Formats: sequence, C-alpha cells, structure tokens
Amino acid sequence: MRKVFASFLLSLFCLLWASPYEGGVSLVIIDAGHGGSDPGASAFGCDEKDLTLSIARALESELAGRGVETVMIRDDDRYISLEERCDEANSQNFDLSGYPVFVSLHINSAENPAAEGFEVYTRPEEHETAMLSQSSSDSLMLKYSDYTAGQLSCLSWRVSSRLAENICTEVAESLPELRMRGVKSENFWVLNGTWMPSVLVEAGFISNRSEAALMSTEDFQERLARAIADAVCRL
Ligand SMILES: [Zn+2]
Repeated sequence: MRKVFASFLLSLFCLLWASPYEGGVSLVIIDAGHGGSDPGASAFGCDEKDLTLSIARALESELAGRGVETVMIRDDDRYISLEERCDEANSQNFDLSGYPVFVSLHINSAENPAAEGFEVYTRPEEHETAMLSQSSSDSLMLKYSDYTAGQLSCLSWRVSSRLAENICTEVAESLPELRMRGVKSENFWVLNGTWMPSVLVEAGFISNRSEAALMSTEDFQERLARAIADAVCRL
C-alpha cells in the first residue's frame, strides 16, 4: 500500500512539475539496428541489418522533408557496439528550443513462422531514475540543470510512452496489413543507455515469409517512415 501511495505521489509530482520536454522535438536520433559483422536476424534471404538501414534512410529523408533535424547512428553497413550507439546519442548537441528523441529500428524474429505483427518498446519506468542520475551529458546539463534526475526521469519516460503510443496509432492507420501488437517495455541496452525519450521499433517478423517480403518493399519502408515521422511530429 505504501508503495502504491509513493508511486501516486510521484505521478502527481510529475504532472505538476513544468516539463523540460516542451517546444516539440528538435532532433531525431535514428538508430538502424545491427550492421557490419552483426546481421541481426536473417531469413528468406533478408538480413535485419539491411532492412533497418533502409527504413532508417527512408525516415531520415521523410523528416528532412518536414524540416526536422536528424542524426543517423549509422548510414552504412558497419558494426557499432550498443555502448557506442548510446554514447553517440548522448553526446549530440541539439536546438535548445526543443528536445531530442531516440528511435531505434529493429526487425523481430521467432521460432514460430506464423508469429507476426508490429510492436514498439519503451524502457521500463522504474529504470529511469538510476539511469539518469549517472548521466553527465553536457547538453543534458545545459538545459536540464534545474531538474533533479528523478524529475527528468519520470518526464522522459512519459514522453517515451507517448511517442510509442503515437507510433502504434499511426502505423495501425497507415499499415493496416500489420497485426498491431502494441506498446511493451523491456530493458533493452539502447533504451536504458540513452537519457532522452527513446523507443525501439520492431517493424515485423523476418521469420514470417509474407512479412519478410512485405518489409523488403520500398512502399512498406516509406509508409512506415511516414507513420513514424507523423508520430514524432504529433508529440
Ligand atoms: Zn534487432
């Protein structure tokens, strides 16, 4: 009961506290999963690393068309460790009139060839305080010095959740052929290691023959990129 009350108080506090996450998104950090010697999941002649890069490029160009600044963690077929991806994201400078978000792109895989659908992950809410109290990013300190790690953390988690919900709503509308599996939370390295609002997209199952074929098309990649860009712009 005491725990429930504490979490109620924390939520109330978050609601009342003026958010540093105002002014809209000023930078989208796009993380194409895997690369180089790490192909990710593979099936039916497709590698996850190639699909994530194609979707990342489509997203970059979609956002550029809308005047939104982007950074690509990788723009070619190279290996980058999870730690390096987080360091790269955390060291970005961004326009202080808004805030950055981190979007990691992945493709799902399962032993069951019938497994299908689209899902988006956020980091678990309880992870945030520990992660942010260790952050020493200069850009974080610049704008966010007035906030304690605890305040930043619950606010960042809320923005991550909103972005994940937005992405699912937009994808359900623009890609009705995908089964919507919804928003989940998991301790993924790139979500826990980045201080800004962050989500990890699992675009579909490479182990499902028809989904692998669908995800390989430019039409799918562009529609997905548009849906994610719409979701970001609605934040
Ligand atoms: Zn992956």
